[in-house]
Amino acid sequence: MSPLHSIDFCPICGGGLCGIRICGVDEEGASDRFARTGSDAPHGMVVCDECDAIWLEPDLTTAHQYPDVEDARCPICGLSLWGNNSRWATSEDVAALGWEFAVNPDLDAASDEEIA
Ligand SMILES: [Zn+2]
Ligand SMILES: [Zn+2]
Repeated sequence: MSPLHSIDFCPICGGGLCGIRICGVDEEGASDRFARTGSDAPHGMVVCDECDAIWLEPDLTTAHQYPDVEDARCPICGLSLWGNNSRWATSEDVAALGWEFAVNPDLDAASDEEIA
């Protein structure tokens, strides 16, 4: 699955998209996903869809890190990087994170996965 909203092509592998992910959400409890507080609060990160490099800010000039290849986990909350607790951020998620400024609209996925 490709990122819905990306900020740029990956400066590390050159071919991947640095997509915005939101973590700390619960697919099953979608209606109250932003009602949580504390360490479960939704948090954003930028992940390359090719090489899995992770940035904790929507700024590719900051330091990046790689998840454990065998067991990729979110560097913020420690849950699975690709589990149900996280997803590629929708435009609503991006807005909740306050990261709209970083999105490059030219890199957005086809919008049929979202209801704008
Ligand atoms: Zn990459
Ligand atoms: Zn997390």
